Amino acid sequence: MSDELEELYQTVILDHSKRPRNRGELPGATQVQGDNPSCGDEILLSVKFGPAGEVEDIKFTGSGCAISQASASLMTMKLKGKSREESTRLATAFHTLITSETPVDTTGLGDIILLKGVRKFPQRVKCAALAWRAFEQAVGDGGSATTE
Ligand code: ZN
Repeated sequence: MSDELEELYQTVILDHSKRPRNRGELPGATQVQGDNPSCGDEILLSVKFGPAGEVEDIKFTGSGCAISQASASLMTMKLKGKSREESTRLATAFHTLITSETPVDTTGLGDIILLKGVRKFPQRVKCAALAWRAFEQAVGDGGSATTE
């Protein structure tokens, strides 16, 4: 990454880990517990799906490193209000982005693409992927997700 991108990446991660958006639980929603034992990150993701499977509301709680918390915060912002198709497309695009050099359509991911910097660090990839794995699990039908 260029220096400016590196700086922006740090700024976004810090901002979201210090002031996470959409933090909380949604009673009655689909809940998924995710954890990343290698780093100690934990997340409880609540997703309220609408009649057509759209993401009506989404919140998370948990604790862990800055990357896991920032990724969860950014994810909830991007997925809220998205259709089932769009939300799962974004989840797939994000995984491709952080795990490979394969070009991917990042339309709709916005500043989340800054997280692709974790690609070089396999341990960090698990941190960044945790919330997204939990979301994919929620689209399935709940349960738990682990990045190991
Ligand atoms: Zn972590």
